Parts: sequence; structure tokens; C-alpha cells
Amino acid sequence: MITDKIFFWVLPVMYGVFTAAFVTLARSESGASSAKKGAAAFGMGMLAIILDTQRTLFPSWFFTMAVPLHWLVLWYMADAFLVRHGDQTPVKPALALFFTGLAINLAATFIVDSVAIRVPNASIVAIALLTLALPRFFAHRAKRLDNITAFVIAMCWLCYIVRFAFYFTLDQSGEYARTSQWSQYMMIFYFTSAIFALSLAFLLMMAITSDLVARHFVAATVDPLTGVANRRGFERMLDEPHDVLPFHSVLMVDLDHFKQVNDTHGHGVGDGVLVAVSQTLISCCKGLGEVVRFGGEEFVVLLRPSERQAVLQVAELLRSAIAATRLGAPHHHLQVTASMGVAVLEPDENIDDAIRRADRALYRAKENGRNRVVFAETGKLNLHSVAAVSA
Ligand code: GH3
Ligand code: MG
Ligand code: MG
Repeated sequence: MITDKIFFWVLPVMYGVFTAAFVTLARSESGASSAKKGAAAFGMGMLAIILDTQRTLFPSWFFTMAVPLHWLVLWYMADAFLVRHGDQTPVKPALALFFTGLAINLAATFIVDSVAIRVPNASIVAIALLTLALPRFFAHRAKRLDNITAFVIAMCWLCYIVRFAFYFTLDQSGEYARTSQWSQYMMIFYFTSAIFALSLAFLLMMAITSDLVARHFVAATVDPLTGVANRRGFERMLDEPHDVLPFHSVLMVDLDHFKQVNDTHGHGVGDGVLVAVSQTLISCCKGLGEVVRFGGEEFVVLLRPSERQAVLQVAELLRSAIAATRLGAPHHHLQVTASMGVAVLEPDENIDDAIRRADRALYRAKENGRNRVVFAETGKLNLHSVAAVSA
């Protein structure tokens, strides 16, 4: 039938377009391993359909390679998604299945020439490969997209089982079975495969682009040197919907005489100090608040505690922890200190105003001799509301 002929060319062309799309994605950006596996899966899918449906174009035995290629398509397709989570289909059992299936497939072509072995063999290996991969999909369901993908893969697995059951309902004898019923079975196979291929291609594209957006978001909101939030990350933190703002106090932290560190030891060592201080701040603030690199050698710490004494204790802990922070050899003797301004949010005060008060207090800490914590006492933005607390 002419429609069969057209249908069998539609699929390779569709797979070819997807292959080209994933090759382009793989070349353009990170997320490349997903896109590469997607490209390989669709490329092999295209080849498998051409080998199977255009038998007159090739030597007579070529068609038999369509079956192992189709197993590889399933394997690569599953891994294109799993690699996003640092996972993959278990390799050893998958290889064992592949080569056992391949041996049976070749024997059923060259030794006994039996379609009654080839078709069940093709289905069983495909089902087994998907059975290996499926639990991995259910183990990585962080987002809605992961849930939808796991569902589609599960449906694909189910479809193989239903098709396999349908195969046994066919009359498997006589000329009629070898022609129209087989073409009916193969039409169902290609039609359902096309639906899953289409769904998985769209899901994979969405997954790759959403990973890309997430990476760009991190790049825009996280300081690449220290790994703490940058100023944009800080703004995002405050933009997030909260019933009540989770932070009740702020600390402005500025390293003392940091320019001297750069001038004496070089910019690279200065960078090392910034990284070490950031790690100290992060580890001391776990569960208490968030650390932001506001700029240069200046950090803002947003804290949950609201009691003046508790906040001062945290600030004092951070100050002494920074003073105790050391780099690795040969710069292990280098000591840096920090000055801090502390403000507890007043009722109805916004974070920006509290930061301004903390900045004033920080200025006083510098004036009073550095390596100290100064508390901004009252709510109004005046210059006389700070009191030295410790040194
Ligand atoms: P003070 O005690 O008054 O704060 O003195 P300071 O030297 O720390 O202050 P100043 O503002 O004069 O110098 C800040 C220095 O921080 C100047 C700049 O070169 C350095 N700096 C800013 N960002 C970076 C960075 O990413 N890496 C390095 N190594 N240095 C940086
Ligand atoms: Mg400084
Ligand atoms: Mg500074």
C-alpha cells in the first residue's frame, strides 16, 4: 500500500529531524551529554526503521540489525534522561541482555530463519531493558517534568508488554500470517513507537532547556568565586513569597585591611581568603540564616534570630571564627579579621533600611579600631545610634 510506504518514510524523516535538533543542542551548550544521547537514540532509531522497512535497498540480512539497534535506542533514550540526574541504566545487566538477545536474533536469522523467535526475542529484551531503567526514573522525581517522564517511560514499558501479548493472539501459520497480519502487527509497533518517540523527544527538549535555564539562574545569582549568593541572589531571596519574612536581623561584614592582603600576597591569595572566609561564614550560619557576598570583601548575613543578645552572640562567633580562619600552606600564617555592623529589624522596618543601619554600625566598628562588632541600637537612620559591643 502506498500509505504504508509513505508512513515508513515519515518516521525516519521525523527521527532525522530530532537527531539534527539534539546534535545542535549538544554542540551549543552544556547539558550536552543528554543531548548527545538523545541524538544517538534518534539517529539509531532512524537507521533501524530504514533497515527494517526498506529491505530492498540493502543486502538481504541487513534488516536483522534493526532489532539490536532498536534496543540501543531504548537504552540511549533512557540514559539521555537519567544522565541529568547523574544516573544511568545499569550497564552490566544491560550489556548481558543486549548480547544474549543479539546472539538469539542472529541465530534466528542465519541458522533457523524464524520470525517466531525473532519477534518475541525483540520484545523480551526491550521489556527487560526498560525494566532495568524504569526504577531509576521513579527514584529521580524532583520536578513535575521528571514525574511526567517517569509516567511516559512506564507507559512505554506497558505498551511493549501489551504488544507482546497481542502478538500471541495472531494466527502464526500460513501465508496470511506472514503478510497482512505481520504488517498489521508492525504498523501497530511503528505507530505506538512514533507516539512515544514524539513524546520523549519533546520531554527531553524541555528537560534540556529547563536544565539550561536553571544553570543560568544559578550563574546569575551565585558568586562564582565563593559559591555564596551574590547581590542578585540576595534580591531573589527577598522576592520569594513568604508569609512572614524569615529573617529578623542583618549583619554587615567587611574584612579589615583587605587591600593589604592583595598588595602583600597577591590577588590570588586574596581570592583564597575570600573563599575561606565565605566557607567559615556558611558553616557558622547553618540553620541560622543566609550568607551573601554583597561586593568585594563585603558580606551581608541575614539571620533568623530576633533577640539582640542572640544576634550579638552569633556576630561575635562569626567574628572570632573569621579571625581563626587560616589558608593552607604556605600562607597558613596569614590572619584576617572582620568588622561587623549588626541591626535587628524594627517592627515594620524593611531589610534595606536595616542594612543601612548595620552599615552605619560597621562604619563605627572600623572607626573604633576594626575586628569588632557594633550594634545599631535604634530604628531611626541617625548617626548616633550605635554602641560598641566588643573587640
Ligand atoms: P578596611 O579595613 O577599611 O575595610 O580596608 P580594606 O583594605 O579592606 O578596604 P578597601 O575598600 O580599601 O579595599 C578593599 C579591597 O578588596 C580592594 C580590592 O582590591 C579588594 N577586592 C575586592 N574584590 C576582590 C576580589 O574578588 N578578590 C580580591 N583578591 N580582592 C578583592
Ligand atoms: Mg575592608
Ligand atoms: Mg569594603
